[in-house]
Amino acid sequence: MDLLLATRNQGKIDEMRPMLAGVGFNLVNQSETDIPSPVEDGATFVENALIKARAVSAATGLPSIADDSGLVVSALDGAPGIFSARYAGERASDADNNARLLSELASHADRDAYFFCCMVFLRSAQDPTPLIATGQWHGEILTEPRGDGGFGYDPLFWVPELKKSAAELGKAEKNAISHRGQACAGMLQSLNAQSVTSTP
Ligand code: IMP
Repeated sequence: MDLLLATRNQGKIDEMRPMLAGVGFNLVNQSETDIPSPVEDGATFVENALIKARAVSAATGLPSIADDSGLVVSALDGAPGIFSARYAGERASDADNNARLLSELASHADRDAYFFCCMVFLRSAQDPTPLIATGQWHGEILTEPRGDGGFGYDPLFWVPELKKSAAELGKAEKNAISHRGQACAGMLQSLNAQSVTSTP
């Protein structure tokens, strides 16, 4: 049975597909379909993840997994948070968002931040008991970008224990410790614990 990955973000798809390979469903990217992305008008990561998953399940009648994630910066009272993808405006590029982050943090000595990921699995659009898994990855915001891997804020996210930015990590290295890696691991555990498989 097909399982829709409710995202059009290629960076997320590249990270999630290998981690979810053993999920027991045939993974289909939303970006391979013409299903439009819904308006993310929730106030929290979990609300927005449910909105995204519900939209693709409603359009297809299939189960879905969605990830809503972002960067939470303590000196900015949690911004950009759920607005991470559009911090510098609706059509902002990663470079625009990174430039805004550097400018907002210019006068701050406190550079602590973490990535947060909320992943949800819906059996159908009407599923009243979604599976929910989360992950948090702590680090610091650099004063200039480093590295050319990853996506989003990775070039500005310093990982003290590895002495590298997230954009300097290999995909497997990032997945082993990242917010998304933690959420994927939790989701796989929940799916296995509940014996959720593609055959009813
Ligand atoms: P979403 O698609 O609404 O969940 O927004 C996610 C946004 O958060 C991305 O567009 C990035 O700006 C940021 N983000 C989430 N996860 C990561 C990551 O692993 N690295 C860098 N930026 C991330």
